[in-house]
Order: sequence, then C-alpha cells, then structure tokens
Amino acid sequence: MRIKDLPVDDKIRDLRQMHLNELIKIKGVITKRSNVFPQLKKVFYNCVKCGNKLGPIFVSTNMEVKLGACVICQSNGPYVLD
Ligand SMILES: [Zn+2]
Repeated sequence: MRIKDLPVDDKIRDLRQMHLNELIKIKGVITKRSNVFPQLKKVFYNCVKCGNKLGPIFVSTNMEVKLGACVICQSNGPYVLD
C-alpha cells in the first residue's frame, strides 16, 4: 500500500525522539548510500564453568563485550559465544 499526502511534513533535521514508532513523512536528499547493515546483534554467552547462559546481550558490530561475573557461579568466565 502506498500512503501519500500525510498531513504532517516533518523536516529531517527536526526529527526527535517523539517521532519514534510514528509514521512520518520527510523530504531529504540522499547524499550517501550503502547496504543496510544490521547494527545490533543479539548474542548469548555460556559460562564455561557452570553452563549458565548469559544474555541476550545486544552488541553493535565493533563493540567489545564486557561480561561481568557469572550470576550463578560468580566466576569471571571464561565465556563462549553460544
Ligand atoms: Zn557460571
């Protein structure tokens, strides 16, 4: 379905948090384009010592994951990616 003539015409620079989950109409000029990459991955880790599953943890592609002590066995891992 194509939607046209929405009454509100937001400017792309005026987009704010209030626009989250709203249907908006904007005009803009594409200056750069690339494939759409998934920015977040949902991962689970398993504690090697007790097998406890940690997660889901949301990580962005180049972010280092810092896992604290395991809530079950209180060790600091090691953890393996599930
Ligand atoms: Zn553990």
